[in-house]
Amino acid sequence: MKSNKIGIMGGTFDPVHIGHLIIAEESRVNFDLDKIIFVPTGEPPHKNLKNVTSAKDRYEMTLLSIMHNPYFYISDIEIKREGLTYTIDTIKYFKKRYPKSEIFFIIGADSLINIDKWKNSEELLRESKFIVAKRVGIEYSLLEERINEINDKYSKIVFSVTTPYIDISSTDIRKRVKNGENIKYYLPLDVEAYIKKNRLYR
Ligand code: NAP
Repeated sequence: MKSNKIGIMGGTFDPVHIGHLIIAEESRVNFDLDKIIFVPTGEPPHKNLKNVTSAKDRYEMTLLSIMHNPYFYISDIEIKREGLTYTIDTIKYFKKRYPKSEIFFIIGADSLINIDKWKNSEELLRESKFIVAKRVGIEYSLLEERINEINDKYSKIVFSVTTPYIDISSTDIRKRVKNGENIKYYLPLDVEAYIKKNRLYR
């Protein structure tokens, strides 16, 4: 029987946008993943909490964004956890919950370059496989070096997926909303409506 493969799409998702959704879907298709679980962060270890929207709003927006994709799921595991949330704990949780599955953590190229600063990074690199999202049109020589280094040490645990170059970021969306600029089609329409209704990022 074919083994079950699960992609874990961790992110602050403040807010989630089509860049995240494209990365998740491309990872699913390219690596034949059976499902993708979106995991909005609770208290991101690397961010000043004062600047991050409530976990409830980020969770709701992420939920709205995945509703039309039958392969996409969401977990509130990091949101429910008290204190700072670390990826190593999340990976251990999913490995325990799905002992027969192969787990892939999906991250952006910039994050992989800095992964040695994450909590228990060596253990994390042993415990999980990673899918790194690269964008077409960007020179990634440093990333290639990093991928090779990690793969030499941990025997092929990093894979990359290339997505179209779409210059959308959560930071940019927050700025646009603050300045009263248009964000239509930057994110799913339901998420745009949620932002308006709840007056986020004003
Ligand atoms: P971030 O530092 O805000 O974002 C890094 C870059 O990657 C941004 O360009 C971001 O785009 C993009 N991105 C975000 N999530 C992505 C994903 N799943 N796949 C591909 N690209 C993604 O990252 P973040 O969202 O806060 O954190 C990403 C994940 O890494 C979270 O699960 C977080 O808990 C984990 N993390 C763990 C540790 C640790 O355990 N010590 C440390 C750092 C991060 P946008 O800005 O548009 O979102």
